[in-house]
Amino acid sequence: MNLIEKRKSQLKNLGIILLVISALALVGGILMLALAKGSAGLIIGGIVLLVAAVAGVVVGVIFTWTSSAVQATQGSIAEGNLGKGTVNMHKCSNCGVEIPEERTICEKCEENLKP
Ligand SMILES: [Zn+2]
Repeated sequence: MNLIEKRKSQLKNLGIILLVISALALVGGILMLALAKGSAGLIIGGIVLLVAAVAGVVVGVIFTWTSSAVQATQGSIAEGNLGKGTVNMHKCSNCGVEIPEERTICEKCEENLKP
């Protein structure tokens, strides 16, 4: 597992943890409001929990979405980056610039890279 994949999974785990905590806060907030029976303290507490839950869901979704949207385009075969959803790169034999593996013409010097 390279550094990008590691960061991605850390971000995803963090997002999932946030979503779980938010779900608990949501349930707690609803329960507090349901049981408040006019008690100002419980109503305020319930609203605070609900707002926190919504914020947690937003951040959690952003984290999990970002982690899946990050494409490891900087990865290369040399780094052992053969993971799913990544773009493998190879070096131009003429100028040395890194280009996606499926490209057979160098973007910089237009060298034909067909094997
Ligand atoms: Zn080139």
